[in-house]
Amino acid sequence: MRLPMKPIARSLPPVRITLLALLLAGGMAAVRAADPAPAAPARMEGNRIDIESQLRDAMKSGDPTKKRLNLLIDGKSGNAGLAPGAPPPINTVDHQAPAAPAVAGPRPREPGLVIRQQRPSAAATPAAPHKEIQWGYEGEGAPANWGKLKADYATCASGQRQSPIHIEDNDTLKGPAEAIQFSYAPSKGTVLNNGHTIEVKVYGENSLTVRGSTYQLVQFHFHHPSEERINGQGYPMVGHFVHRNELGQLAVLAVLLEPGEPNALIQKVWTHMPLDVNDSVRMPPDLIQVGEILPKDQRYYQYIGSLATPPCTEGVLWLILKQPVSISREQLRLFGQLYANNARPVQPTHGRPVRDAVLITPGGRP
Ligand SMILES: [Zn+2]
Repeated sequence: MRLPMKPIARSLPPVRITLLALLLAGGMAAVRAADPAPAAPARMEGNRIDIESQLRDAMKSGDPTKKRLNLLIDGKSGNAGLAPGAPPPINTVDHQAPAAPAVAGPRPREPGLVIRQQRPSAAATPAAPHKEIQWGYEGEGAPANWGKLKADYATCASGQRQSPIHIEDNDTLKGPAEAIQFSYAPSKGTVLNNGHTIEVKVYGENSLTVRGSTYQLVQFHFHHPSEERINGQGYPMVGHFVHRNELGQLAVLAVLLEPGEPNALIQKVWTHMPLDVNDSVRMPPDLIQVGEILPKDQRYYQYIGSLATPPCTEGVLWLILKQPVSISREQLRLFGQLYANNARPVQPTHGRPVRDAVLITPGGRP
């Protein structure tokens, strides 16, 4: 016996919904299968942010537990670009909350466009339209609020090993320490203006070795003024060189910058600096030579901290070279015009030891 068509069916065109669902679900499945990485990193390349935010918007009314996406752009997962913002699932200990298996489980109902066409059910979350506040350095998204902006950023507020910190010589552990072994070769780079800093993604054979582990250089970026404070003093700028070892652990080398002669590496970067947020510029091959920016004196402070940008993941090995290198006032001014202040304030040390490394050469002389 045939049932008469009910009028309610008119408000939910089944064919259209099914088609959309299939299209979207198919697209999602492809994306997921291609990128097995767990939680989506908080910061990503510009185009990825774009796509992700669009998808997130589209999914606003869906099941919040299904909102995480891992997008694949240019054949890469989001891990490669930890920016000051950016940060990938670095820390094997506390950041890699295992996400749901990519394909197992019930077919997610996330295709947001479909859901959006339905009337909100009684179970839907309260309708207050919630505009997501982006993290930044002033206003509502300022560092003091990072921990409240998103559940993923909670560590920014609750963490006990956050960065940056104020280092005072009187409180450091002075003693022998190994020299950092740098191995930097001419490399290709892409300069990205990511809305929080100018960042150079580096492609090539670049690494540092310390504590028995070799960390590959992933990217470097700048803060104005420096985030680090040493003996009560800040610097006009700092470069952070983000390295990652094969376990996914991070080591960030900090190079303090003070006014003086123009800086050769920075000149190359500024020459290719994109002015628009989320724009990027490819540099000529072999132009990047990170060794150019290293000071002669390579003694350093060492401590365990965090990413200094959301999600503030901890377990990052910080290596802060004590001797600043020079940057010209013009170079400083140019960056300051784009980013007048992109430094997180110093965080409590909670009794963390900071090592003041007196280098021991193979010959045994400090
Ligand atoms: Zn940084």
